[in-house]
Amino acid sequence: MSADDRTREQTMTSIGFIGTGNMGGPMARNLLKAGFKLSAYDVNADSLKSVVAAGAEAAASPNDAAAASDVVITMLPAGQHVASVYLGDTGIIAAVRPDTLLIDCSTIDVKTARDVARAAQNNGKQVLDAPVSGGTGGAEAATLTFMVGGSSTAFERARPILEKMGRTIIHTGGAGTGQAAKICNNMILGISMIAVGEAFVLAEKLGLEAQRLFDVASKSSGQCWSLTSYCPVPGPVPTSPANRDYKPGFAAELMLKDLLLSQAAAQQTTVDTALGQHAANLYESFVKAGNGGADFSGIIKMIREQRR
Ligand code: NAD
Repeated sequence: MSADDRTREQTMTSIGFIGTGNMGGPMARNLLKAGFKLSAYDVNADSLKSVVAAGAEAAASPNDAAAASDVVITMLPAGQHVASVYLGDTGIIAAVRPDTLLIDCSTIDVKTARDVARAAQNNGKQVLDAPVSGGTGGAEAATLTFMVGGSSTAFERARPILEKMGRTIIHTGGAGTGQAAKICNNMILGISMIAVGEAFVLAEKLGLEAQRLFDVASKSSGQCWSLTSYCPVPGPVPTSPANRDYKPGFAAELMLKDLLLSQAAAQQTTVDTALGQHAANLYESFVKAGNGGADFSGIIKMIREQRR
């Protein structure tokens, strides 16, 4: 297909976008920029404003945004919101045309993602779970990573649309595996950030300068993303949130949400994720102490204050 044909196909594809908050707003604007026709809905009228100003039509309800669209994208807070928008006699699965492709980009529990996929299949509709990583910066810059669970045919249909909002698009397998990839990745991230924070606090107490620990560990077997891209102390990685008083970035309350999702999945599958559970407990304390809006790397401050 030529570039002109592709552009023509895009402008003819209508997208219903439901949930235009911190992530959904910039994602929807990138689709408008790429030439798609958008009908957008959010329960909060303020969230819709920037998307409507960028050229979207404001829909009156989720079904109003979805019913006439070729593709529907949802970007909602949690599983209960996704279930309420998708399921039941009044949900979008029942409302859309049989050829409409449904893509949920929210981060939710694997069980709800699979319930939605089953309901869609029973109704002859195609759905993908496609959570993202990359944060609001990635949503603005259209550099998100999409982890996509569902059939190969649905994935191939979604790919050119997801490519307008992201840089890395990975098909992870069947229904629910996109959510599984997201929570497993973030469990590694939550645990590794605590490990790096503990190492820097111990180094401080042992008289080892932070920059020296960074120089050694970033070239040794302690190397990891939490250290080299997101170092929790100011200095070694100038772009990390530690250099701007832990302004997010990736908020601690979102890390806690993802860790709790991983622990709910571990319980359902009877897997013993002892470090994942401990990380969830520590982030819960950090958030309860009023730090939910701080970057998750700020947990190093709590580690520094704690004593054996
Ligand atoms: P947000 O709260 O800013 O946006 C969610 C939007 O959904 C809000 O505008 C809200 O009004 C709307 N909404 C809620 N219920 C609705 C309903 N029934 N119908 C229509 N709209 C409804 O959240 P966000 O930061 O955009 O995150 C969205 C999802 O992306 C979450 O699952 C989050 O975990 C995930 N995520 C967020 C980030 C991040 O850095 N913010 C990064 C990766 C993934």
